[in-house]
Amino acid sequence: KEFIGQLETRHQKGLLLPEWLRYPMIPFWLGEFIQNIREDPMLQPHQWLLKLWISQGFLTTPDPEWALELRDKFEAGIAHQFILHFNVTDYVFDMRYGFEHRLPSYLVARYPQEDGRDVLFYNRSQGVTPAADRQADSLSREENSRWQNFLSDVSRWGLRANDLRVLMNPAEALYALEQSLYESGNTCDPNSVVIFEFAEKVAPAGGIEFHGGNADLLIQIETLQRWALDERIRLKGHLILLLARNIAEVSDNLREANGGTEAIEVPMPDDSARLKYISYLFYHYLRSAHPLGAREICFDAKDFSIDPKSVISPIEQQLRALANLTAGLTRVAIQDIVLRAFQAGTPITAKLVQERKESTIRSETRNLLEVLKPSRSMDAVGGLEKIKAFLRTEVLQSLKSRNPNTPAGILFLGPPGTGKTLVAEGLAYESGVNFVKLGNFRDQFVGQSERNLSRALNIIRAMTPVIVFIDELDQSEGRRSEGNLDSGVSSRVFAKLLEVMSDESLRGKVVWIAASNRPDLIDDAMRRPGRFDDKIPFLVPTEEERASIFAAILRHKGKLSDEDINTLALDMLARESNGFTGAEIEVIVSRALRKASIDNVVLQTQHLKEAVKGFIKSVNSEKYRLMTLLALAEVNNIALIPDPREHPQLEMDWISVDGTHVRINQATVQQEIKRLKNAIL
Ligand code: ATP
Repeated sequence: KEFIGQLETRHQKGLLLPEWLRYPMIPFWLGEFIQNIREDPMLQPHQWLLKLWISQGFLTTPDPEWALELRDKFEAGIAHQFILHFNVTDYVFDMRYGFEHRLPSYLVARYPQEDGRDVLFYNRSQGVTPAADRQADSLSREENSRWQNFLSDVSRWGLRANDLRVLMNPAEALYALEQSLYESGNTCDPNSVVIFEFAEKVAPAGGIEFHGGNADLLIQIETLQRWALDERIRLKGHLILLLARNIAEVSDNLREANGGTEAIEVPMPDDSARLKYISYLFYHYLRSAHPLGAREICFDAKDFSIDPKSVISPIEQQLRALANLTAGLTRVAIQDIVLRAFQAGTPITAKLVQERKESTIRSETRNLLEVLKPSRSMDAVGGLEKIKAFLRTEVLQSLKSRNPNTPAGILFLGPPGTGKTLVAEGLAYESGVNFVKLGNFRDQFVGQSERNLSRALNIIRAMTPVIVFIDELDQSEGRRSEGNLDSGVSSRVFAKLLEVMSDESLRGKVVWIAASNRPDLIDDAMRRPGRFDDKIPFLVPTEEERASIFAAILRHKGKLSDEDINTLALDMLARESNGFTGAEIEVIVSRALRKASIDNVVLQTQHLKEAVKGFIKSVNSEKYRLMTLLALAEVNNIALIPDPREHPQLEMDWISVDGTHVRINQATVQQEIKRLKNAIL
């Protein structure tokens, strides 16, 4: 009833209905799914699976969306050549087949070879192959009359083909495929389908300056450019698909706005798609007929805890937890995690998933994106009370409820070691969302940075809700030495990042936190209003703050109890450590703890006092002063301006605003910044 109700609602709202409803028979996969759950003794206790599929709308939502977009754009005559990119080797779900196919073989199932339709693949290592090769129960090549016809055409066009390696050379393959497209009739819709796997190998990115020495590559790129605009190919209803994991690796000429080739992104599975796949895996491995022997996916009870009061069954709670934890992974990677656990005969642990996630994402983005596991709440941060209160009230709540008014970006400004990274980690910990760090995308080789950033941004989209931390947004050093790089590429990389950062549909799902100690060197485009809603200054801590930093570090790092901490003379230590940052206090505490453990005694004030005395500050205090003033000059929220009377080391004029708020006189700040810049830089 619920299922029929959902279909009716979709129908009334004019929403798309699943394609399989157009067919007279219930899909084989679905019939088997329902029958197994009702009759297979292993599956009978898991009737909730069917309820889950219905209640989540898995049976009623059309799927997959990219295939529908492709169909619609093709049918509307918008294009006949497409680049399908990003998650193009993953399993695809279609109600007609379940999760049986990876994307290339899904295309074969979707566009079966029938009537007048030829479906041909090309990749560099196999040459041209018939689509039927990808189906387990296919005809042999000898029995495949369409393929035999194609081979005799190939020799008619004056090209050589022996049966196993046909048209390995891309120039010959393109020529033969073009002839075949021109000669075939238009009997079905789409007519013939030509699929290029690894399209980046046939038409790679980089302009004439890259491929100048390789005329063949330029001709290949031009051929595909020509096909996209070719009226004969369009009128005959042919469909050309270029598959690429990373669109940035495909020739720019094919990505031009008016070039005729349409790009469609195949996304990573989102929360709901992952739950669907994981519950399918649960079903799949539990069937009595399964070759691995029916087995339940088992979870480590400690990592995947169960709420006994919940109305949701324990196993379903665990499947949902796995779906949350695997954000940013493909279905293939999720299957791999389950299979590894099966093979080792151990339950799935959070560690197994985390490790897999870290290594996959690092290698996919060549270390550009790093998944971090926040382990400390903001309670581990000493001082910075105004900042913590602001983040807890303004950001945390709205991020938890995915409120679209959540700030899209926040800038953390101030000298090194003042707790910027730590506060971002604390915010991620308290909000329970994913936490990733975007590395230095400008540092990589030209072209490569674009490719890796484009993958990183796609993964970020798949990991929502997520906090993305960008350290050293200014890249003050890198930028200066970068002068010679191809500015076209680096500005395009940058534009791409800006585009994703200002994507309104991601508000409430992605919070960008960028840190910098030289905000004056941040690119102008980044500074524009709307990118970073709030700019927060992190100053060198006051005496009172230093005492709480000592306490926080002793508590979290030293594992000392509050009772033990109270016996230490932290006020005195705070006085003695004037001008020290949180990071420096951390070094001091570590040294003191080490000394105490060597002496085999409990930590005493004396250990800390000696460590403070023995610490030599290496930094140039003028430089820190400049960074502090630059931060103060940027702040755009009166509630976040520190009271200059609490920071006497700044030695600044202060002026009173509306009697309660006090702020530094901006004119003096600017003057002082100028003086310091002249003196230091
Ligand atoms: P950078 O600009 O160099 O990246 P940062 O401002 O991000 O510096 P953090 O990495 O957050 O500084 O700080 C370094 C270490 O110093 C932290 O891991 C933490 O242990 C300690 N620390 C800094 N500030 C504080 C603080 N307010 N309370 C507790 N610990 C702190």
